[in-house]
Order: sequence, then C-alpha cells, then structure tokens
Amino acid sequence: MNEYSKELKQGNHKIAFVPTMGALHDGHLSLVSRANEVAEHTVVSIFVNPTQFGQNEDFGKYTRDLEGDMDKLSPYRVDTIFTPEAKDIYPENFQTYLEVAELQKVLCGKSRPGHFRGVATVVLKLFNIVQPDFAIFGQKDFQQLKVIERLVKDLHLGVEIIPMPIVREKDGLALSSRNAYLSDEERLKALSLSKALSSIKASFQGGCKDTGKLLEEGLAVLKNSDVNDIDYLEIRDSENLELIKTTQSGNLVAVAARIGNTRLIDNIIL
Ligand code: AMP
Repeated sequence: MNEYSKELKQGNHKIAFVPTMGALHDGHLSLVSRANEVAEHTVVSIFVNPTQFGQNEDFGKYTRDLEGDMDKLSPYRVDTIFTPEAKDIYPENFQTYLEVAELQKVLCGKSRPGHFRGVATVVLKLFNIVQPDFAIFGQKDFQQLKVIERLVKDLHLGVEIIPMPIVREKDGLALSSRNAYLSDEERLKALSLSKALSSIKASFQGGCKDTGKLLEEGLAVLKNSDVNDIDYLEIRDSENLELIKTTQSGNLVAVAARIGNTRLIDNIIL
C-alpha cells in the first residue's frame, strides 16, 4: 500500500482516503463518492481495529463481508481496497499509542475507555501508510471526527479532513453497520434516538434555550419508547465538546443508548 502511494505521490497525484471497518452501507458510500470528487485516486481501507474495542464489546461478532463490500464499492472509482491484517498493523511487541487528552474523556470516551486511543492510533498509522491528501469522515461519529481533526492539527499531519453529513433511513434512523444486529422490535425502539434529537431541535427552534428542559424532553421521547439503557444524552459545544449552560445555535446534541445488546449513537447539530 505504501509503495503504491509513494508512486502516486511521485507523479504528483492526489489521494483521497476513506477509512472504514467494512460492513459497508450508503453512509460509507457517501464518503467514497465525496472522495471521488476531491481526488483522482481513492483508497478505502477495511480494517476492524481491535484496539478500539473494549473487552466486552462486539469485536468478535462485528460483520465481516469483504465480498459484499467489494460489490458495493464496484460502482465507484476505487484504486485500492486496503485490507490489512491485525498482525500487520499490530506486530508482536507493538507498544506505541496516541492519545488526544481532553477530547477523549467525554461522551463515548467516558463509557468506552481506551476507544479513542485505539481510533487515534490506527488512524495515524493508516495515514502514515496511505499518505492521503484528503481523508473523509462521517459526522455520524462526531466525537471521532473532532479527535481526528485535533490530532491532524496537533501533529502537523497535513491531511485535509473532510466531514460528511449523516446518511439516514427514510424514517430517520442513522445508518450504522450495527443496525444489522437489531430485531424488528429493537429497530422500532432504535428510531427513538433520532426522534429524541429531532424533538430537541424542534423545541430549540421554537425558542427554548434551556439546556436542562431540552434534555428532559429528549429523555422523555427515549423513555416513551422503552429505551432505558441510556449512556448519555448531552448538549455540548461542537468544537471543544465542552458542556454549555445556555443552548446555542451550532451546539451538538449527542446520544448513545443500548437497544438490547446493541449500542447505538446518533447526533444532530442545532
Ligand atoms: P465505521 O466503518 O463505522 O468505522 O465508519 C467508517 C466511516 O463511515 C466513519 O467516518 C463514519 O463516521 C462513517 N459513517 C458511518 N455511518 C455513517 C452514516 N450513517 N452517515 C455518514 N457517515 C457514516
């Protein structure tokens, strides 16, 4: 992969990179489509990164379907589908990790200790291998996007990060590889995540700026659908992810909840 990227660079060609864990859906494909627009060469990586999963998480059962993923990518201009093995990325005696100190403490970082350390480490490694000019990330993983923007700035990586909006089903459910785990009944419950966010947005647009009240309203939507295992529902500054007192336009509303055994996340910018 690195040899190929070096050849492209010598020819002054630009590379756009889409890192994924596979089990591709239209959300991922929107990133690939954007990559095709911004550069003449697109690289997609498929790597279920062990270091970003906690011990009791779904690393083992995460969907792996390389054939299906290749079919989904076939309509796009993809030079390389980079599918490294864990032993290549983390060879024996691997011991160097990257941490984004503050941003990793809140939201998903709080309930998934070590998650963003794994994400930051693998993204830096993938950037070093692929040598992209552009890297495309979805706002679905909003905190991940902020962590990566920060590390790119802090380490002078010179990769342009391009954020892309969340792709949703018609009824509002944010596309996720983990939606495949949901039963019909659970899928109905899962809809309440996007509903809670929309209801907060509607109240905000209707004039309510009281963060506590807005959150109460969102929580009521979740509880009404019998979603009780809520990791967080929070309103934060969308740049530094700090808590805010009075809700303002541009703030992030983010939610994470477990539906059965499936942990789902979603967010909206007010
Ligand atoms: P993953 O394979 O889940 O690690 O995701 C790979 C990339 O796809 C990340 O940048 C995600 O934010 C992005 N992504 C996942 N789901 C969506 C979605 N529904 N809309 C837009 N981007 C998404």
